[in-house]
Amino acid sequence: PGRWSLHGKTALVTGGTRGIGRAVVEELAALGVAVHTCSRKEAELGERLKEWEARGFRVTTSVCDLSVREQRERLIADVAERFGGKLNILVNNVGTNIRKPTTEFSAEDYSFLMATNLESAYHLCQLAHPLLKASGLGSIVFISSVCGLVAVFSGTLYAMTKGAINQLTKNLACEWAKDGIRTNSVAPWYITTSLTEGLLANKEFEASVVSRTPLGRVGEPGEVSSLVAFLCMPGSTYITGQTISVDGGMTVNGLY
Ligand code: NDP
Repeated sequence: PGRWSLHGKTALVTGGTRGIGRAVVEELAALGVAVHTCSRKEAELGERLKEWEARGFRVTTSVCDLSVREQRERLIADVAERFGGKLNILVNNVGTNIRKPTTEFSAEDYSFLMATNLESAYHLCQLAHPLLKASGLGSIVFISSVCGLVAVFSGTLYAMTKGAINQLTKNLACEWAKDGIRTNSVAPWYITTSLTEGLLANKEFEASVVSRTPLGRVGEPGEVSSLVAFLCMPGSTYITGQTISVDGGMTVNGLY
């Protein structure tokens, strides 16, 4: 297979109906990958599926709340069945945020964000390990955030989950290298998605984000999905354990 090809590979992309996950599904499917994706809303999954089928993409879906352990087990059972017990690519994309000052977070907020952003990704890696190993060429990509690298006004819980994802990336890269599995993380700054549209609609807020960003704008989902695809290709087979920012230069900006 060519260095820039993913033709004939299989992928699970979590949270593929909107935003970055949707862009990743479409990027991989357009490159010839058979993709399975999930979200909590059956109707929206159905709408996407129609669009994807019309474009000739090989995509299947499951309705699944990834914050629930049994539903993650069911999802991986579905994936194992669809792809004959093997999986080349796992993209852990699902994540959300609650923004509050630290003193205002409740125990429920803590459990919800940990379950959705961190525990779900951790458990999916555990469950998918035999499938990734069986494929002979496995690649895990986490959608982390620059909030896991530097302190920005994201709320502490979100930042903690993303910091943990970055450390998980390093450890799995070392622990599972012998199984032919590479593990990397992509860390975006502001990207226009349903998660951020409310925030970015506030023009003052958007201006404060853009003023910190050397490229002078926020990013698009397709500017994240291109890196995700590269990290799964034969052209990146010596890259593992890395967290790579897609941030318009924000994290290297000292005081410009
Ligand atoms: P969106 O909220 O736009 O999309 C999230 C997707 O995940 C939807 O398809 C949603 O569908 C699904 N999803 C959410 N919760 C669950 C759940 N419990 N079980 C199953 N599916 C779920 O988010 P983004 O595209 O903006 O974010 C994707 C990832 O990128 C997240 O991890 C986020 O932290 C990260 N990120 C985003 C940035 C940004 O600026 N947008 C910046 C940095 C990182 P449904 O709600 O119907 O279940």
